[in-house]
Formats: sequence, structure tokens, C-alpha cells
Amino acid sequence: MSATFKSMIPVCEGEPCIRNGSNGGPTVHFRQESRRRKSDFARKCIAVILLHAIFLFAILAALIIGHWISEENQKMNNRTMLEKKRNFTVSDVFPPPPDGGFGIAEQLHAIRSNKMSTDALLVPLPLYILPYHYDLQLDFSQFDTTLFIRGNISIHLESYGNSTEDEIQFHLGPNIKIERMRLRKDGKKFYAKTFKREESKKLGRISLRDPLQKGKYILEMAYNMTICDEDVDGVRCSLDNQNNSSLKSTSFTTKFEPTLARAFFPCWDEPGVKATFNITVKHHKKYTVLSNMPPIEQRKPIDWNEQWKTTVFQTTPPMSTYLLAFAIGEFVKLETRTERGIPVTVWTYPEDVMSMKFTLEYAPVIFDRLEDALEIPYPLPKIDLIAARNFHVGGMENWGLIVFEFASIAYTPPITDHVNETVDRMYNEFRIGKLIAHEAAHQWFGNLVTMRDWSELFLNEGFATFYVYEMMSSERPVTAQFEYYDSLAALVAAQSEEDHRLSLVRELATESQVESSFHPTNLYTKGCVLIRMLRDLVSDFDFKAAVRRYLRKNAYRSVSRDDLFASLPAYADHGAEQEKLFSVLEGWFVNEGLPEITLIRNYDNEMMTISQKKTVHHEYRSFLKDRKSVATVRYRGSRSAEDGSTLFDDTLFDGYIERKKDKRRKHRPARRKASTTPPISLISRRDELRKPRRVGASQDLWTIPITYMFGSLKTSEGQVIREFWLKNRTVSFGDAEISPNQAVLVNPEWKYSYRVNYDLLNWKLLARTLHQNHLEINDKSRMQLLLDAEYFLSNSVNPHLYLYLLGYLAHETKMEVMLFGIDAVYRFIDVFKATQLNKAILVYFEPVISQMDHLLNESQVDAETASLWLVKPERLAKLYQMRCAAGLPSCKNDYYTQKWSRAPDEWTEDVHKQVTAVCHQLFTNTPDEVKTVQDLLDNRLHSSGAKWALTVQLAACSHGQKLLRKTARAIVSTKNAAVYASALQSDFSLHYNPTFRKYLWNEISKMSNFEKTALFSTNSTNILPASRILLHSVKTIDELQQIRGLLTNWGPLLTLHFEYLERYLLWISSVSQGVLHQFFAADLSNF
Ligand SMILES: [Zn+2]
Repeated sequence: MSATFKSMIPVCEGEPCIRNGSNGGPTVHFRQESRRRKSDFARKCIAVILLHAIFLFAILAALIIGHWISEENQKMNNRTMLEKKRNFTVSDVFPPPPDGGFGIAEQLHAIRSNKMSTDALLVPLPLYILPYHYDLQLDFSQFDTTLFIRGNISIHLESYGNSTEDEIQFHLGPNIKIERMRLRKDGKKFYAKTFKREESKKLGRISLRDPLQKGKYILEMAYNMTICDEDVDGVRCSLDNQNNSSLKSTSFTTKFEPTLARAFFPCWDEPGVKATFNITVKHHKKYTVLSNMPPIEQRKPIDWNEQWKTTVFQTTPPMSTYLLAFAIGEFVKLETRTERGIPVTVWTYPEDVMSMKFTLEYAPVIFDRLEDALEIPYPLPKIDLIAARNFHVGGMENWGLIVFEFASIAYTPPITDHVNETVDRMYNEFRIGKLIAHEAAHQWFGNLVTMRDWSELFLNEGFATFYVYEMMSSERPVTAQFEYYDSLAALVAAQSEEDHRLSLVRELATESQVESSFHPTNLYTKGCVLIRMLRDLVSDFDFKAAVRRYLRKNAYRSVSRDDLFASLPAYADHGAEQEKLFSVLEGWFVNEGLPEITLIRNYDNEMMTISQKKTVHHEYRSFLKDRKSVATVRYRGSRSAEDGSTLFDDTLFDGYIERKKDKRRKHRPARRKASTTPPISLISRRDELRKPRRVGASQDLWTIPITYMFGSLKTSEGQVIREFWLKNRTVSFGDAEISPNQAVLVNPEWKYSYRVNYDLLNWKLLARTLHQNHLEINDKSRMQLLLDAEYFLSNSVNPHLYLYLLGYLAHETKMEVMLFGIDAVYRFIDVFKATQLNKAILVYFEPVISQMDHLLNESQVDAETASLWLVKPERLAKLYQMRCAAGLPSCKNDYYTQKWSRAPDEWTEDVHKQVTAVCHQLFTNTPDEVKTVQDLLDNRLHSSGAKWALTVQLAACSHGQKLLRKTARAIVSTKNAAVYASALQSDFSLHYNPTFRKYLWNEISKMSNFEKTALFSTNSTNILPASRILLHSVKTIDELQQIRGLLTNWGPLLTLHFEYLERYLLWISSVSQGVLHQFFAADLSNF
């Protein structure tokens, strides 16, 4: 399925904005357009994206999420970190992800989605008796009026071997009421002693008078249940709002993944247990009923009376229960076919037909493409896609009946001017296309071949995500590739934080653990990244053949990763040695986090040491070292003239003579292996379920394909690449070809997902290379260097080295790299914005920001590059802020402020530029100079909704004391911690407005002790996300002191957060007076 909230759908599933492929859909020919037209087109595209994707003011988002903290306090605090972990230290404090105001809504969203009202233990059912077929007769005739469903089920079971067991266990949701039950063997009644329900495990248990014998049994049950219950998620009803007297449903769709089939019918609800299904549904004749298979057309409906009819569906192939699906409603259909003639039907409501045009055109294209790529025909006789109402995930891949949330695939082209229409269409095609591709890929990965156990869910989601890229790459290679690296960056970041990293394959003990394992980064991206690693290790050719083998051999079966490896080549090449592919990947699957490589060179004797360990972010936050080392930072900072002036002095690199040798590139011999096509077996193997489950223990040792590179493109030797496997913690060796003044780069092209740290001198050499000729380093490596440098250097005792490295971006010409640069520079400015260095930092980055601006302009005439802004549109907002903060003319302060003042509610595509400019105008001028705007804001403080959200954010940029006080009062009166936090991290400014913050904290101080305690969740053992963001939005020691005064007792957890923040803020203050100050004092021309 796709992630729970649309905002959480990983970029991994993306589809570019602009498609011009041969998909039968509308085609755009850029080459034939005039230059002017292209320019308009791309610019509009960018603008529209921004409008759609981020023009939700953080405050508005916070309001929408709108939970008052005390309510939260009651709900989420069961899992207490303190109880689990007694020795809590400052290293256990995790600041919220450093993303300005942009991530707030998403962070809160993500946390909420993990909340489960109920939870149940997952107990594997015994294997001595298993179902192979279900006959399911359902009565939907009262679903709409009384929300009631009745069912008759016959489960055909096979008992293996003569057993001493005298019990049958199956899954049974507590909402299902069993009316009658009967067990038969060979047509004869088989007597049960007792029937018990075990609600905590959602099990039904039948004790028998006699032990089970080898052979076949039939378990028959009549049952009923009510649907549309808030607490049971498996059935999503669309309710009739017009009729207030009694609740009525007009349609419903089901979603059983992961463990909700048991809430719809008694069953063996484990993904590995596959069976065939015969389904019959009685319903009112005005409704259409859909299921995985098409109805049997030959058979006339049986009429109970005129009103009712019965739909009988074809027998399904062997499949998992979580993929079974039903939909009922007054749908209309739009029909098309794949190239092979498989009917593709989009079901929707009569009024929505027009909005399904693109989905109808694109779905068969994707299915054709997947069939071509996998060389396995889509196995069912039909493909239904339904645009459901009130569906809570973007899409669910039920076999043959894919359910989408209506809005996630709906799009009606506007009837406006031509250019807008095109832009709007492309944005929406991008959004819809990636979702369709993801769910379509699941029809093979997940539906045809299914993971045996939820712990290996990556076999579904990793492959589905991987194939979204494959499908996208044929149309928009640049965007598809960038999306991959952008999600890789998010993965590496998440897996470096101790409270975020999770192993890909891990034991899942409860329903809620399975539910929350559908994580955009830890599951979708990590799965995709490791599948890509597999491909890179065995070559594209071998990988494709292996995937075909894997699908054919395991069709209609359930698998573990062992079965995947059985289809892959046994060995992987990297350097001179071959390694067993399975052993290489195992650590990557079961270990938490990701590895970090450290390269230490000895510049005197040509020796190098490469070592690995699990990466832990806190190690590179120098302020978390003991007090002594914090003091050392301060001391070093104050006497660092020597460091600062010699650090980048080229004389440091003198004294070494470059030795040039032959380049030796490693060529991998081409291996061709013929793929065979075994017939797809319809036999479902039960024995495969008996294989032992293997989850594996997390360690912190990986088998890592190490590649390093040195040398220069400009020399005749070119660049030299060496490869080897790192299996141990550490390896030391000599490489006489590397001259001491050459930089060594590890993991060129950012091929594998590990971080790389270097000794300080090598970092300097890399930074120098970037400044002198950044093209010596591949663009993907430049992206990795930006991330790794931030990780290892920005909070170290050498933040100036990081600052120096970032300076090279003034020459960066590759848009993809610059997008990473925008994030990095934005964060750097944000960290130091309350220090006296703010101005110097902005001056230093001015050429960099100008270059960003330049690339933005360039991208507006090239559709392919323009589409890169789609991946994370908030980067555009960051750039707007940075150019205003740096005072660049492109900010157009006056122009946009006037425009906004004239029509503050006209939200055109310019609006983000306008409001950013207004904020900066307010901040950089005296209250008298901007009186008109201030008055306007003052008046608008009484408005509501989005207008109010925008007003308070803009007013917070002002210096007018009266307005600021009023604004602070208005914000605090919302009683919403998320709103307070977003107000402190305005969407439109990189400024630090101490007066506003003082007023805001003052207003908060007037709250009652009870409210303040709730606000900061001091009574709770788990700090709420909103409280955490609020506390960590503090920028100075003074501000921290003011907050500390709000309460007398902060509790043990918050006290640690205060200690963390104090160290952090002291560090900011000390480096800004020390090494960074020295950096700016030095002659910049030296660089
Ligand atoms: Zn999925």
C-alpha cells in the first residue's frame, strides 16, 4: 500500500511533473515551442507547484492538525522511555529534525499516525492445519440502512499428518458475531468440545473431542457484524450526510492490510497462508459489487425477489487474505484495455467521471510497461481501479481491485488559458502517475509473490518503490534519478538518529508494530535502496534475470528473503575478491542504522586506515562531549587565529610531489546467463510455511563494498578507482600511487548507502578540490559530500571548514547538487541567525545565493530541470527567504510588498514571493516606514482561518511593539503548542526577532501552571512532538533562561533537554565568537 498520509508518501514513489512519453496521453513537444513559451511554461509550472505543495502556512497546518496539548497528554504516553531506560543522559535528547518551519506539520502528522487505539499480539497460527480454499457468501442487502452484514463461510482445511493436536485456531476479530458453527470431515460431523474467543489475540479456538487426523476438513460458520465502526478500520464507509435522523452508508470499500481481514471474516489471516476464494454477494440491484475477480458472466443472478440480486465471482488464484477486497456502491465505469487485451476499468461516481481521464489513460500504460519489464503477464483476468470516498490511505494494491482515495487520483483540468491548463495538468499527472505505478508494481511484488511474514515487508514495498523509479525513468530520467538521491539523503539522515533508525527486517510482535512498520523512510526507501544495492552488486543484466526467476519460481507462493537470494547469483564482485551475495546483504537487512566509514591517511608513509562502525549523530555534536571538552571548544575558539589563518593556506599542501602512475580501472567481465521460463505452478506449497522464520539479530558490522578514487581528470592518468570488500572493523594498507596533496574520495557516485568521514586534512583537500574545480568530483558525490560534511563537521570543533566547503556552491552549476546546497545553506544560516555573525554569514553566502537564483532562472526555461523543484517544493520557499535575507535585488521588497498590500487575499502564484518580501520589508524597516502594512496586519488579526495564519506570521516580522504584543496574545490564545512552535519558526523569514519572542514567552508565562505543565508535557514520560519543537525553537541562552523561568519544576526529561539546549546554545555562541569569527576576519581572497 502507499503510506498512511499523503504527505508521507516517500518521494521514492514519485512521478515527474512533465511527461512527454508515448503513453497515449496528451503529449507535450517542448522542442517545437517558442523559447518564450517554454519559459512561461516552466515558470508557471514551478509557481503552481509551490502554490499546491507548500502554500499552507505552517500555522494554518498547525491549526488544522489542531490538537490541544492536554488532550494529547492523556492519550499518548504508554510507552515510557524512562521505564525502559533508566540511565538517561543528555545524549538521549533528540532535537526535532532541523528543517525550519517546514517540517512541523509533517512531524506532527507522522506521530499521530502511529497512534493505535487498540493493539493485539500477533501469534503465528499452528501449521498442522491450514486452509486451502474459502467459500464466502456475503449478504450486503442491509449494508446501507442498518450498516449490517451477514456471512456464511466454509473454510476448506487440510490437516497434515496424524497429530496429537485437538485444537483449531483461526483469526477472528472481536466485532464478528458467530451465529452457528460446524466442523466436518469427509462429509461427517466432527465434534467440538468447546469454542473460545481470545480477544486480546483476536483468535477463535475450537477444542475437539478427538485429535485431528490427516486429511481434509471443512469448517462452516454463519456470522454477522456491523460496519462503518470508527474502531474497526477494515471497512471504509461513505456515509450519507443528508440524512441526519439515522446514519446511512451509500458505499464502502475494504482495506485489510495488514491484519484486518480477520475483522471481516473468520480466517487464517497471515500473509504467508494462501488460499483460493469463491465469493458470492447478495445485494440490492441498484448497487455494483466488486471484488478481486470478475463476476461469472454465464451464470444468471438468482433473484430472491425483484429488489435483490446475487453476484458470483470467479474463483481467485491462491492469495493472501490481506489482499482480498470488496467494494459496493452506485459506481459508474470507464473502460479501456491493456495492449494484451486485459480489461482495465476505473470505477467512480457519476459526478466524478471527468476527473478520472488521466487515470484511465495512464493505468494500462503502466501495466504494459511492467509486463514488458518483468516478462510475466499480469496474472488476473481484469484490473479494476476504484476512486473511493473516505479511504484513508493514498492507495491499496488489492489484487485486481486497486482502491485509491478519490483525491489522490482525481484531476479535472481547469478551463483556463492554455498555459495554465498544461501546467496544472502536468503537476497532477506527476502526482497521480507515481501512485498508480506503485500499486501496479505490487500486483507482482506482494500479490503474485508475497512475503511470508510481515517482518519481511520490504519484499513488497521495497520492490514496489524500486519499480516506480524504473517506470518513471523511461519518461523523466533526471527527475527520477534526483528523487532517488533525495530520498536516500532522507534515509541516511533518519538512520543516523538513534530514535529514528530501525532495521529493515525485524521482529514485529503486535498489530500496531506491523501498522507502523509501513514507514516512508525506514521501509519504502530503505527497501528500495537495498534492492538497488543488490542490482548494482550483480549487474543490471543479472538482476533483471534474477527478478524474473524469483517471480516465476515463487508465483502464488509466499517467500522469505532466502527465496530472493536463491534466484540471484550466489556471488558478488567488488574488487578482486568475490563475496557471497547473501552474506553481504544480511547485515544491511537486519542491522539497525547504517554504517559509517572513516578514512584516515598517514601523509608521511602512504598508509591508509579504513574502518567502519554504526553511525551515531551525537558523536559529531561536539557540545555533547563532557563539560571539559565544551570548555576546550571555547578555549580553542578564542585562540584559533592560527587555525583560521593557516587552514586553507595552500602552503599547507606544499612539499609533496605528485606522482603519476597508470590508471587501473577494474573491468567487470560480462556475464550472460540464459533465463529459463518454468511454468507457473498453481499449487500452493504448505511446506514453505514450515521453514523456520529468520529475523536475525542487529549487529553493527556490515560487509561493505568500498570504492575509493583519487587523481585528476586533467592529467593523462585520469582518476584512479580501487575497490575492495570491508568485512572487518578496520583495515590498514598502503597505496603508493596517491600523492599526499591529492584528495581521496570514498564511495564515488554515492553508489552505496554509507556515510564517509575523513581525516581533517583530507576534508581540506576535498574542500579545496571543490573550490578549484568541482567537476573533478562527480555530481552525486558532491551531493554526498554536502551531506557528510554537514554531518561530521558542522557541529564539530571545525564548523568553519564546513562553512568554507559550502562556499564552493557559488560555482555549482548542477541543479541537483544545488538543491542539496539550498537545504545545507539554509540550515547553516538558521543556526547562527541570532548571533552577531548573522550579517557576515549572509554576506559570505551572497554569491552562493546569487548562484542559486541564477540556476532558478535557468531552470525556468528548461522543463526537465524545472521538474526537479517538484521533488521538494519547499526548497523554493527557502531560496525566496535566503535571497531576501541576503538583500538580493531579486527579492523585490518594495514591488511585492505593494502588490500584496493592494490585494492581500489574492493568492496568485506570486503569493509566496509577496509574503516573503513583506516579512523582510517589515523586519528591515522601522515601524514608521512600514506603517501602512502594519495597520493592514493589525486589522487582519481579527480574521480567521488561512487569513489569520498568514497575518500572525507576517506580524511576527514587525518591530512595532503594539502589533507584536497583540500578535503574541492572539497566538497564545489558540492554546495550541504547534501554533506557538510554527510562529517561532516563521515560514517567511530567516530573521530572529527577539522582541516578538519575548512577548510570546511573556504571554505563555501568564498561563496557569496546569496549562504550562500540559504545554511542555512535564507530567508525561514522553515529550510530545509539539512541545519538543517548541522548546527546541529557542535560539539564544537568554531566551532559554526566560523559558526556564516559566515553571519551577521541569521534571527529569525536560531538565535534560534544557541541558542539551544550554550546551548547544553555548557552543553556537562560542564558535561564533571563536573559529567562525576568525574565519570571517581572515582575508577571504585566500580561499
Ligand atoms: Zn506499497
